[in-house]
Amino acid sequence: MPIDATAPYDDQNIFAKILRDEIPSKKVYENEFALAFHDINPQAPIHILVIPKGRYVSWDDFTTTADDAEIAGFIRAVGHVAREQGLPAPGYRLLANIGGHGHQEVPHLHIHIFGGRQMREMIPRS
Ligand code: 5GP
Repeated sequence: MPIDATAPYDDQNIFAKILRDEIPSKKVYENEFALAFHDINPQAPIHILVIPKGRYVSWDDFTTTADDAEIAGFIRAVGHVAREQGLPAPGYRLLANIGGHGHQEVPHLHIHIFGGRQMREMIPRS
């Protein structure tokens, strides 16, 4: 069920619990501002989620209210993980779903990193 990306941050969302180590995740990288872990339901041979450590529902409030260090730390983490996974040479895909039309399901900002196979069209046409 897609979320309302304009709703207040919910501290009980699943990624907040992963950040607090209340539920397990297969972590691949962490820096001061970001955590990366394998998606529980991978849609490609490599499917990693990168999340900011701060309380941000979506790309919208992150880019409005996060400070420059958080934004840089988060974006650099995405690039670092992709390089660590060997993805720049074969290529890969980044995706962020935002709110209802974006079909965002978890109300904590996350970037999907997909790799390890040929991607097809960007989104279904209908
Ligand atoms: P969204 O549709 O919000 O962009 O993507 C949410 C993603 O989170 C989905 O790909 C889903 O498989 C993943 N996910 C949901 N719950 C969990 C969880 O408990 N652990 C992990 N590692 N991934 C999860």
